[in-house]
Amino acid sequence: MGKPVADEILGRVRGLVAQSAARGRRPPHLAVVYVGDDPASAVYIRQKQRAAAKVGIETNLQHLPATVGIGDLLAIIDRLNGDPGVDAILVQMPLPAGLDPDLVLERVRADKDADGLHPLNLGRLLAGGRGPRPCTPAGVMALLAHYGQETAGRRALVIGRSRLVGWPVAILLTQAQATVTVAHSRTRDLPRLLAEAEIVVAAAGHPGLVEARHVALGAVVVDVGITRTEEGLRGDVDPGVAERAAALSPVPGGVGPLTVAMLLNNTWEAYSRAL
Ligand code: NAP
Repeated sequence: MGKPVADEILGRVRGLVAQSAARGRRPPHLAVVYVGDDPASAVYIRQKQRAAAKVGIETNLQHLPATVGIGDLLAIIDRLNGDPGVDAILVQMPLPAGLDPDLVLERVRADKDADGLHPLNLGRLLAGGRGPRPCTPAGVMALLAHYGQETAGRRALVIGRSRLVGWPVAILLTQAQATVTVAHSRTRDLPRLLAEAEIVVAAAGHPGLVEARHVALGAVVVDVGITRTEEGLRGDVDPGVAERAAALSPVPGGVGPLTVAMLLNNTWEAYSRAL
């Protein structure tokens, strides 16, 4: 479900990169900083590098040991910030324990922020201004738009309030004229909120949290949660929801490829802004 939408975005970026190359310009360049050896991060980074190569975006991987000190990590980011050949910087999360992600995300220059997670860019998101949008939330919105799902005036429930997913989704849905409720770990009656929601975006990281019997008939459900279990990847949404929902974006096969597409879109935007 997500792949055709991601392919459309990647196709557009590929076309823009090719046009730019035809004018004799160098390709856009994304620097990826990967600290430690988290196996899921290694998979995500490979996916991002492969997709970048397909659209003509260069990548350069800085792989640092988990023991790297914060000073050395910030010095590497400073070097990438100052390198005119680097258009966008992605610091792969999560960082190993002991490295403060806020400090690291804030160190990336806001105009090279590939993930849209710099506080300045989150502020721009809140203000409705220009700037890179967080990739997964932007992917959720692209998915809804592509499949013609109306948001204006509809009741939306976002489960999760992280800076990475839940909060930005809630802001983007509100800007798209939905009436948004945000649920989190202290929310009391999730089934009641689910029963009222016409759009559900689940981003809690709890497999099966959204049960079919609680979802309103005809709701549009986007599952963002990813949990690795012995049976494979599981989303937050019970697959049985497909029988009640008007549309379900499942895990896997849903928003995952869109996160990558939006990262490369942000890289293109950072490059073209700097021209
Ligand atoms: P996170 O930082 O752990 O945040 C999880 C959020 O869910 C928190 O706000 C938490 O509430 C809330 N929550 C936890 N248990 C809940 C419950 N029982 N009921 C309601 N809310 C609950 O995770 P994240 O970074 O936002 O990621 C969320 C999920 O999306 C994860 O599974 C992650 O792997 C996945 N993800 C997927 C993609 C993709 O490309 N598809 C990208 C990013 C993340 P509190 O705030 O109260 O703790």
